[in-house]
Amino acid sequence: MPSPIAHSVAGYVLSVIKSREINLLTWKKIWRTDTFYVVFISNAPDLDFLIQAFSNEKIHRGFTHSITAALGVSLFAVIASHIFHKLSHFKSLFWVTLMLYSLHLFLDYFTAGGPGMQLLWPFTNEFYRSSVSLFPGVHHSRGVLDWSHIQFVSYELIFSGLLIWGLKHWKSYRKDSKKSLT
Ligand SMILES: [Zn+2]
Repeated sequence: MPSPIAHSVAGYVLSVIKSREINLLTWKKIWRTDTFYVVFISNAPDLDFLIQAFSNEKIHRGFTHSITAALGVSLFAVIASHIFHKLSHFKSLFWVTLMLYSLHLFLDYFTAGGPGMQLLWPFTNEFYRSSVSLFPGVHHSRGVLDWSHIQFVSYELIFSGLLIWGLKHWKSYRKDSKKSLT
């Protein structure tokens, strides 16, 4: 799986690109700080590390990395926002949460190493991973400070830099095309 670097930047870039369709302004009012929410949901599936640390069971990339969890978390966000904020912009919040959570699963699916993830839990406990890898694996078992981490950190920094560079150009392209229409 990619580290929080790639997950956070990819989630942020996707949320900016899709901000019109999903009406980010609407749910910004709900959560006050939209960037925090984007980064949190983009990394939420990996919170299974915390559960693993307390339970001592190997559950990483298990049920939290499933389509069912993506739908469940999106639904939970909508219900929580209704209970605590009494707001009814359900559709936007549901789609933005589902989109960001699914993006995490998508990036993990194309990562080298490991057995994959339980994408179709609870219907099957089978692990799924693409045979084509876009990201080098992260070796958590080697601890936080290990020279081998330089490989994935460098790769993800380049990946994130390219995404932000692409976003910047996409924004100026949109500005230019708006100007030519007026
Ligand atoms: Zn993950």
